Amino acid sequence: MTTTDVVGPAVAQAREAARWWGGLGFNGRRSRLLAWKRHIAQHIGELAALVAEETGKSQDDAALEVMLAVEHLDWAARSAGKVLGRRKVSSGMLASNHVATLEYLPLGVVGVIGPWNYPVYTPLGSVSYALAAGNAVVFKPSEHTPRTGQWLADAWAQAVPGEPVLQVVLGDGTVGAALTWSGVDKIAFTGSAATARKVMATCAETLTPLVVEGGGKDAMIVAADADLEAAAQAAAFGGFGNAGQTCAGVERVYIERSVYQTFLDKLGSLAPGPQKMTTPEQPSIVRSHVEDALARGGRAVVGGIESVQPAQVGAVVLAEVPEDSLAVTEETFGPTLVVNPVDSVDEAIRLANASKYGLAASIFTKDSHAGTAIARRLRTGAASINAVLGFAGVPSLPFGGVGDSGFGRIHGADGLREFSRAQSVTRQRFHAPLDLMRLDRDPKAMARALKLFRFRHGR
Ligand code: NAD
Repeated sequence: MTTTDVVGPAVAQAREAARWWGGLGFNGRRSRLLAWKRHIAQHIGELAALVAEETGKSQDDAALEVMLAVEHLDWAARSAGKVLGRRKVSSGMLASNHVATLEYLPLGVVGVIGPWNYPVYTPLGSVSYALAAGNAVVFKPSEHTPRTGQWLADAWAQAVPGEPVLQVVLGDGTVGAALTWSGVDKIAFTGSAATARKVMATCAETLTPLVVEGGGKDAMIVAADADLEAAAQAAAFGGFGNAGQTCAGVERVYIERSVYQTFLDKLGSLAPGPQKMTTPEQPSIVRSHVEDALARGGRAVVGGIESVQPAQVGAVVLAEVPEDSLAVTEETFGPTLVVNPVDSVDEAIRLANASKYGLAASIFTKDSHAGTAIARRLRTGAASINAVLGFAGVPSLPFGGVGDSGFGRIHGADGLREFSRAQSVTRQRFHAPLDLMRLDRDPKAMARALKLFRFRHGR
């Protein structure tokens, strides 16, 4: 079978299912989404084992990923009605004879293309919110984690039997590409910026709207007054956890010079040993970044080129790495950290913002006002103060980036709206005394309206 043979029928079936699903309304969908959630929660061990097997991460890390995904699913199911449901809005002065209502309606069928690094949490950030907004979903998981994707769809079919509201199509990028021109009403893509460019080009041909959750080169800023123990722990977790294969993980640390060495010492003691990487290609990218950093004058404080082996990669901490090195400019997606000293927090902000990516950041300082002020100056979609990835577990917060990290938002109210279309409806209750919307408009009415207009806006 060709890829189109797989994708076309799935999208056609999804379109039928979308009619039923959309017609259920928020309450009908909520109870079914919560049934799916319970099924996932009851079988978390089984799902985590599968994720661990396919990605190489530990079963506990996989379970944590499922727990986070389930929190989001629960929130999306319970909040969709409140966020998207029909509501009255002010009709303003000119249209005061109308009742104005706003409602966020389903788009129809959403195509979700997922990555392999968090094969449950990441795609469900789109899938759960798209379903809660009333859409049917055709989901193409990464070719590296197909069984996890299939598991999620099978779980759906068991919890919500009947219409194929959530389907999976399996395969590589060619299947993803087929989905982008299959006529779905929106594509939610999570993956690299390079693939996002291809997806956007295809979507442009059919004007299919797109949300892109891309990669990152997230910075951590550590001020001189920071709790260095906590900052080092967070850098180690954010930089080395999941073998560094986290879109919003830490890849760069900018730290005030006075506490630089103390931080490096603490970080060194937390560096983990070799970890399995998910894909066979990734270690060679990591190696090229380490080699380039060292060739340009950076120094390896923990590990080195020898830490990067084809099967497993040990933690590498690179210090004083020139800002034009690959390890600073490109997403490494491995258990490496660049730690560069700065003379001030201002310099840290400038360097953090110099990246083409803008997904998230973390900030360590004991001064909460300063922390918030730093966050607001960062060109990112999220920031976490005195922790890493704090936002990831808050379902009511939107998630997404700027620049090469993408556009559009998943999670939160914005994430629900991303998968809906706003529909504005007015209903005229009575004829306006000053009715200007007619061809035989009374010139006196126009003169009176102009007088009112000047009084209202011209003073
Ligand atoms: P990738 O870009 O290689 O692939 C992503 C998905 O796109 C896969 O399912 C793949 O099969 C599909 N694909 C490939 N070519 C395609 C095409 N021409 N048309 C349509 N689909 C196509 O990314 P990856 O290696 O699977 O994932 C890692 C990347 O994802 C990293 O950059 C990471 O930072 C990013 N990521 C971002 C987030 C986020 O939420 N922002 C979350 C997780 C991962």
